[in-house]
Amino acid sequence: MKLNVDALRHLSKDDFRVLTAVEMGMRNHEIVPSELIDRIASLRHGGTYKVLKNLLKHKLLHHDSSKYDGFRLTYLGYDFLAIKTMVNRGVITAVGRQIGVGKESDIFEVASEDGTVLAMKLHRLGRVSFRAVKSKRDYLRHRSNYNWLYLSRLAALKEFAFMKALEEHGFPVPKAIDCNRHCVVMSLVQGYPLVQVKQLQNPEIVVETIIGLVVRLAEHGLIHCDFNEFNIMIDDDEKVTMIDFPQMVSVSHRNAQMYFDRDVECIFKFFRKRFNLSLQEQIDNADGSDADTNETGRPSLSSISKSAGFLDKELAASGFTRKDQDDIEKFIEGAAEIDSGSDREETEDEEHISELKENNFKHLDSLCLLEQEQSSKSDVDSVMEKQPCCEAD
Ligand code: ADP
Ligand code: MG
Repeated sequence: MKLNVDALRHLSKDDFRVLTAVEMGMRNHEIVPSELIDRIASLRHGGTYKVLKNLLKHKLLHHDSSKYDGFRLTYLGYDFLAIKTMVNRGVITAVGRQIGVGKESDIFEVASEDGTVLAMKLHRLGRVSFRAVKSKRDYLRHRSNYNWLYLSRLAALKEFAFMKALEEHGFPVPKAIDCNRHCVVMSLVQGYPLVQVKQLQNPEIVVETIIGLVVRLAEHGLIHCDFNEFNIMIDDDEKVTMIDFPQMVSVSHRNAQMYFDRDVECIFKFFRKRFNLSLQEQIDNADGSDADTNETGRPSLSSISKSAGFLDKELAASGFTRKDQDDIEKFIEGAAEIDSGSDREETEDEEHISELKENNFKHLDSLCLLEQEQSSKSDVDSVMEKQPCCEAD
C-alpha cells in the first residue's frame, strides 16, 4: 500500500483539528479517551464523533476499546499532520515517489513551490521494535510519553540539528531545509548509495575520502555509528555525501572506541570485498587525516585530537538537548540489542506506509488554502496555526 496523500486534500479544517487533538492527547495517553478528544478539539458546532469516524475510515487513527473507548494516531495520521505543516509553511507543495525505505524511515521525493525536487524523510523509530523494547526492557517504564511518536520526533530533530551543524562545518551532507514532528525535509542528493555502485574510477581516492570523513568527524567530537555503504551516497563524479544521522554519538560516549572502530571496519570491509583493495597503504595517506594509525593500519580514535563540546553547544542551539541525546541513545541501544535477537513485531501501521510506486507528484496546493480558525484560541489552535520548527514538548 502507498502513502496516499489524496485524502489530504479532502480533509476539512475540523478533521485536522480533531487529528491535532488526538496528537495532543497522546502526550499523556497511549490511547486518548474519546471524551478527551472532544474536549481538546472543542469544535464550534460539535460533531467530534462523526469526524473521528471519518479519520478512522482514512486510517489516520486507530480505534481501541479494550479498556475504554479511545483513539491513537497511526503513522499515516502523523504523516498527514507533518506534511500539512510543511505545506502550510510553503516548504513543499507535492509528494512524489518513494526513494528509500529503511528499517526506521521512509524517504520520498517532494517538490517545493519553485519546482525543486527535495527529499522528505519520515522517521519511523519503533516501527518494528518499539513494542518489543517496551515489553522487554524497563527504559520506558516511567514515562508514558516515551512512545513511537516521541521517539520518531526526537530522531527527526536530531537528524535535522546534526545535518545543519555538519553542513556549517563543511561536511558533505544534504542541506537541511526544515523539520516538523517526525519529518525532515532536505536537499535531494544526486547519485546512489555506495552499496549499489559496482565500479569506481578511483576507488582508492573514494575510500581515502570516506575514512578522512570518519576521522574529521571524530576531530569534531562525533562518531557516525552507522557509517556504511548504505549511508554513503556517491554521484557520477565520485563525490561522496554522507546521510542518516539519528544514531550519532559523542566521542565521550562510553562505547566510543567500539563505534569508531566499527565504522572504520565497515568501510574497509566493503572496499576490500567490492573493489578488491588492499587497504593498508590507502589509509596511511587518508585524506585530511593527521591521525596516527594503529598496528592494523586503521586510524585510531585515541590518537585523534578532538574538539569536544560540539554536541552540547552547537546542537543545543538547534533545540536538541543533551537529555534528548540521552533518551534517543537509550532507545537505539536497546532496539539494536532486541533487533539482533530478531524478535520483531510489526505494527498494523506498516501497511499504510510502504511504497509509493507512482512517479506522479501529488499536488497538495489546496492544502495551503485550509483556513485557520481565528476565534477562541486554545492549545489546539496554536498548534494548528504555527508549528514552530522542531518544536519541543
Ligand atoms: P534509514 O535511517 O532508514 O537508513 P536513510 O537516511 O539512510 O534512512 O535513507 C534511506 C535511503 O534513502 C538511503 O539509502 C538513500 O537511498 C535514500 N536517501 C536518503 N536521504 C536521501 C537524500 N537526501 N537524497 C537522496 N536519497 C536519499
Ligand atoms: Mg540509512
